Amino acid sequence: MVEPDVDVVVVGAGLAGLAAAGRLHRAGLAVTVCEAGDDVGGRVRTDEVDGFRLDRGFQVLLPAYPEVRRVFDLPALDLRYFLRGAVADSDSGRYHLVPPWRRPSAAASIAVDAARFAVGRPRDVAALGALSVRDLLAPDAVLRRQSPDRSIRAELSHWGVSERSVREVLGPFLAGVFLDPSLGDSARLFHLIWRCFLRGGGAVPDAGMAELPRQLARALPPGSIRTRCAVDRVHDARADLAGVDLADGTAIRARAVVVATDGTTAQRLVPAVPEPVWHGVTTWYFAASPDDGEPVLLLDGSTGLLINTAVISAVAGGRAPAGAALVSASVPGRATADDGTALESRVRTRLGELYRRDTRKWDVVARYAIPRALPSLGPGRPLRRPVRFGPGRYVCGDHRDTGSIQGALVSGRRAADAVRRDLLGHDVGRA
Ligand SMILES: Cc1cc2nc3c(=O)[nH]c(=O)nc-3n(C[C@H](O)[C@H](O)[C@H](O)COP(=O)(O)OP(=O)(O)OC[C@H]3O[C@@H](n4cnc5c(N)ncnc54)[C@H](O)[C@@H]3O)c2cc1C
Repeated sequence: MVEPDVDVVVVGAGLAGLAAAGRLHRAGLAVTVCEAGDDVGGRVRTDEVDGFRLDRGFQVLLPAYPEVRRVFDLPALDLRYFLRGAVADSDSGRYHLVPPWRRPSAAASIAVDAARFAVGRPRDVAALGALSVRDLLAPDAVLRRQSPDRSIRAELSHWGVSERSVREVLGPFLAGVFLDPSLGDSARLFHLIWRCFLRGGGAVPDAGMAELPRQLARALPPGSIRTRCAVDRVHDARADLAGVDLADGTAIRARAVVVATDGTTAQRLVPAVPEPVWHGVTTWYFAASPDDGEPVLLLDGSTGLLINTAVISAVAGGRAPAGAALVSASVPGRATADDGTALESRVRTRLGELYRRDTRKWDVVARYAIPRALPSLGPGRPLRRPVRFGPGRYVCGDHRDTGSIQGALVSGRRAADAVRRDLLGHDVGRA
């Protein structure tokens, strides 16, 4: 009889794979994580360029995500918070939609601004208030099972939010969250995420989003993560042991394999997994001068060119070297090499209008074009999908739950629990 090299092979060291590996390790199973890239993190990585710390695509952590609270030591992440709310630049003016008491130095002008917004559109304020109270207070199951499920755009209209407020404020905000200006994703998911924004706002670790996967990786035994270790083929346990063939021609035999790659790669390794439809995004990072950037999301509610922009270093000082500021600007979809230059000049011009600065001297620090940023979740699709795909073969990743840090972590926990139940007989709940 062939002996396994290890109990479980996890393919991919993104958040899902690391969450699964940690849970399996804590259950006493020997785990090896094979990661094709040169470091852990998958879509959550941070590059250091000329003293700037750049996340690979602008991302925000919602500390109120339930699985985030369960899995991370949050204080150790050294989180820096965005101001609650946002500033929306629209055809009808600029709205500073943040609680005035969070910005004492500008409280009076912010209050006047908010009042101008409320007086101009009382029905929208009432509709958003009702929606927000419901999302804050309703049990999780009510949000998850809401029927019928609709697109986010249809849902906002159903609650009575006007097309104008969607176009100028909510649309750009939510396009940044779902990376989809059409707002075609599931309203159920919108309500769950909206609730987390209301409960805990948005934050980033001072040293970069890569602090998340690094913290999970540190909890694994030394040597259990192999980077530059691409898996070519996955075997299930029908005939023999499960295991993987590696790109370097070697193999690892195991009692179980957890495929924790992005959905497109998962479909190649385990053909029964459907390939997701992706939302893409392109983020530019500019080196700006360290003037009065606010720690707030700035929304482009008039041209729709940008989904959002922020002076990241005003939120997290550790992102820029002394004497400089770091500005992110994201546009929906993936900019190709050809349209990148033309687009960059439009982005720069629009940033000049939004920040009311001369941006011609802002240097581009980096540009990230990410075609596969978030798997979409259309209305009516289940928020959780199976993780067990035959004997000894399991699949996790955000495409099995929701396209988010929360979804990736939950999928990792569910896959690990399915493995534990099958290998150890632990009753750990439904997978
Ligand atoms: C630009 C951007 C912005 C985002 N914004 C937010 C946000 O603000 N808030 C939020 O909650 N979420 C956001 N997300 C989503 C979130 O980052 C993802 O949902 C999550 O990181 C997915 O983790 P994962 O482990 O499922 O997949 P991945 O991170 O894709 O990890 C898969 C891993 O598998 C590895 N791999 C692939 N093929 C192989 C192979 N053959 N062999 C071995 N290893 C392999 C990959 O290298 C990778 O490390 C954003 C994502 C992007 C890209």
